[in-house]
Amino acid sequence: MKTIAIVGNWKMNTTPDTAVSLASGIRGRLEGRDTARIRVIVCPPFVSLDRVSRNLEGSEIAVGAQNLHSETDGAFTGEISAEMLRGLAEFVIVGHSERRTLFGESDELIAAKMEAASGVGLKPILCVGETLGQRSAGKARETVERQTIEGLSKVNDLSQTMIAYEPVWAIGTGEAATPETAQDMMASIRACLRPRFDDVAESVPLLYGGSVNPGNVSRFVEQPDIDGALVGGASLSADSFTEIVLNALD
Ligand code: PEP
Repeated sequence: MKTIAIVGNWKMNTTPDTAVSLASGIRGRLEGRDTARIRVIVCPPFVSLDRVSRNLEGSEIAVGAQNLHSETDGAFTGEISAEMLRGLAEFVIVGHSERRTLFGESDELIAAKMEAASGVGLKPILCVGETLGQRSAGKARETVERQTIEGLSKVNDLSQTMIAYEPVWAIGTGEAATPETAQDMMASIRACLRPRFDDVAESVPLLYGGSVNPGNVSRFVEQPDIDGALVGGASLSADSFTEIVLNALD
């Protein structure tokens, strides 16, 4: 049976106090459950990483950051480097579609961030996904393959990486992709990894993201190439996030 990863992306939500309550709510609800087959990861805002990490110490829940800067240090007011995150987070989301569209992040910058994260031992979660326009123009596959290949261009060890396929039109809309559409794209992602990464392409966790909820998660993770989910809105409630985790195991 495959191991499943469920990642909660809290985005720019929660204060340090409410982030700790959310983390403890999830921890409490998962206590005593058999989660051996599942990796649960929560990604709070930067300012809550320290407190949430401490709160989750001794639990099976890991912590991730939502972004990082590609440089190690210097005159980049307001930015956070990989080195600063080391010790506070085990994972980091890179190239989320909101970073690409709202903050103009290019594949080249995302590749540099992936390299920065890997360089200090942070485990990056590379997000890829087409817009509705790209899908309507028949360019979904070529977009996702390009984002995957370019995003990983500076990563040598894929074994510490996860890839999240998140069609932009499904994020926060309540209109999830069908499991078959997601599976079809995951198979393409795995295929485009093979020439460079050989066998690791078969085991790299591929997550689906886009309006995942407790009712649809199991239909995604039962697909052969889907190893988990990246969850936005539904990760902000301890009840619904825990339900997603438990339903993914069914
Ligand atoms: C996301 O932002 O990565 C996401 C998948 O959001 P939602 O689950 O709300 O669609």
